[in-house]
Amino acid sequence: MAPKGRGGRKVVVPESFFEALGIRLVKDFGPNAAESLLYEIGRDAGKAYARSAVHGLGREIGTEDGVRTLLRRFGEFGWAQIRFVSLDTPSKFAVVEWREGVGVPRGGSPVPVCHLGRGLLSGAAEVAFGAPCDAIETKCQAMGADHCEIVVGVPDRVSRIAEGAE
Ligand SMILES: [Zn+2]
Repeated sequence: MAPKGRGGRKVVVPESFFEALGIRLVKDFGPNAAESLLYEIGRDAGKAYARSAVHGLGREIGTEDGVRTLLRRFGEFGWAQIRFVSLDTPSKFAVVEWREGVGVPRGGSPVPVCHLGRGLLSGAAEVAFGAPCDAIETKCQAMGADHCEIVVGVPDRVSRIAEGAE
């Protein structure tokens, strides 16, 4: 069992757990409710994770270096192979490549499916940037893309991307 840190107990589960969870939520609650449940669960986990990282660092994350360190740690936990396509710390905005995300099928979906991943990033970004954040997925491996791409940051900027203005 993993040690009990400030962020509470951490449990390792097989990847199949996440795919099964997504399928089950869609089946029982429909795609819209499943999407927001996964996103909110992800956000809570992302915030908790970032807060425990802040505690571990002993300082706020809000520098570019701090944000990069946080993302690297996320990758080490096995959520995905993650890298920044762009990072604008002063503007509290980033584009993240999310490759081989946990529980993400390769192709076959008409819509992006990484609601848990986008939630994790938006929750963590909220703590790291110190401002309310949102996240949208602009490419998804489940739709046949080479990798997933998640735009995360302050809602104004993210919604401009969603509307295709940037
Ligand atoms: Zn995806």
